[in-house]
Parts: sequence; structure tokens; C-alpha cells
Amino acid sequence: MAADDRPYKNTVAVLATMHGKERVIAPVLKEGLGLIVGLAMSVDTDTFGTFSRDVERTGSPLDAARAKIGAGFEYAPYTRVGLASEGSFGPHPHIPFLALGRELVLLIDRERGLELTGHFASPETNYGHAVVSDMEAAAAFAQRSKFPEHGLIVMGCVDETPAPGLALFKDVIDHATLEKAVGQVVAKCGAAFVEADMRAHRNPTRMRAIERAASDLVRRFRSQCPACAHPGFDVTERITGLPCEWCGEPTHVTRAEVLACQACDYRIERPATSATTADPGRCESCNP
Ligand SMILES: [Zn+2]
Ligand SMILES: [Zn+2]
Repeated sequence: MAADDRPYKNTVAVLATMHGKERVIAPVLKEGLGLIVGLAMSVDTDTFGTFSRDVERTGSPLDAARAKIGAGFEYAPYTRVGLASEGSFGPHPHIPFLALGRELVLLIDRERGLELTGHFASPETNYGHAVVSDMEAAAAFAQRSKFPEHGLIVMGCVDETPAPGLALFKDVIDHATLEKAVGQVVAKCGAAFVEADMRAHRNPTRMRAIERAASDLVRRFRSQCPACAHPGFDVTERITGLPCEWCGEPTHVTRAEVLACQACDYRIERPATSATTADPGRCESCNP
């Protein structure tokens, strides 16, 4: 890509983060869009919700990202472009016993009235927790969590559920600190609730996922509407109904995807797969 087709060459964007996300977001957006990322230094992003449970996040990850960008614009009122990143973690929707990590990076250009997100989702996450009553169990969980490269959070525990109000150790990054934290919490509560620290600066796996979401944002930005050239022309809908190979009835397999423009009415439908029929194993008539 030639340097001069970067749409935001030398435009400053404000990013509200306390957790070092600029390390992965700034180079990707500089290379892909020409943005120069500056930090909103005094914005306390923890007020929008934390993973360490002392502030509960309300609303969707997208809402949280919008609120962070709003705070970034307040910090830097003359900035045209705002950026924020937000992660969410939980059980995989389809595969039991597997966790799924999702990252989004949001860009708002308030001069153009543009809002665009990049996404990355992967089961490659160390998200998880354990209730432990001794150091041996804590060490076993720590190893599964990729500690000490990845941080841990140790907190009080009542009836197998976390009780951060009783005790909370947020910066557990070495074995000595882990031992001390677990010892103190077990002495106080009888058990300790230990969980992977999902804050980006304590979680290199998450940092890599944020980088992928930033790359997805660049890809979407550069995908322009064929009619009006607005950025972000991308898949907005998937249509099921690929016919069964045996009986020809529509199945739940995706047949087509719709790409739509956010700014004008232009949309196209294209086949989602090169296959013209679906496996009878996915057909409700042939394989009920
Ligand atoms: Zn069938
Ligand atoms: Zn358009």
C-alpha cells in the first residue's frame, strides 16, 4: 500500500486506555490508516467497568467503548477521531467447557459521522477461575492460566463465589506474591477465589487478540461502498437455506451473505459458499 492512500495521514486520534493497549493498536492504525494515536492520559477507564470486579460494567461492550471515546473527546476536544477497545469473555456459545474471548476496537470520526468496529473472537484465551483452599491447588490453576507471563487476581471467597469486598489482590505477577495473597485470603475466608487477570497489560494473549481486532478495523475501513465510497462496506446479514443434497429442502446452512452500506441504500447479496447443496446430515427432513 502506498503511504499516500492512507485516509487519515497525519490525523491525530485520541485513545482512552490505562492498560497499554496503544502498544498494539497504534502501530496497526498508523500503518493501515495513517492515524497518529495519542493517549487521553487523565481518563480513568476503570470507571467504565473493570475485569477485577471492583466496578461492574453495565451495558454492552460497544456501549462501554463509546463511553470511553466520549471521555477521550472530553480530554482532547479538538480531536476528530476517537478510539477505544473493549473485551468480553465467557463460555463458548456452541462448544461446552470452552471459553471464548471477544475483542472489539471502535473508531469514531465525528467530522464524518462515522462509527466503525473491528472484531476478533477466539477460544485461545486464558479466561477462567478456580476456588482453592491451599497453595498446591492455586499453583495448578496458575500454571493453566499461563502465570506468571499472565497475571492473576486473588480475592475473598464465600460459598464458592467471589467476595472482593473481603479481600482483593489485583497485581499478582510472581510466585511470591501469589503465595502471600492465597495464604492471607485462605486464612481469612477459608478459601480463595483466583482468576486470570484479563486486563490487557497483564495478559499477552489478550494483547495479541486486540491487535487482530485493530487489523480487522483497518480491513473494514478500507472496504468501501461501490456506490458512494463510504468506508465499512461489509457483511451485515447471513441468509440460511442452502438446499439439501438429497431432498432439496432448505437447510439451516448459510446460503448467501448480504453486504450493506451504512450511509446509502446500496446492498449486494453474494453466495456464501461455492457449494450448491448442503450435507444431508444438516437437513431436518433427512437427518431429524
Ligand atoms: Zn434433506
Ligand atoms: Zn454507500
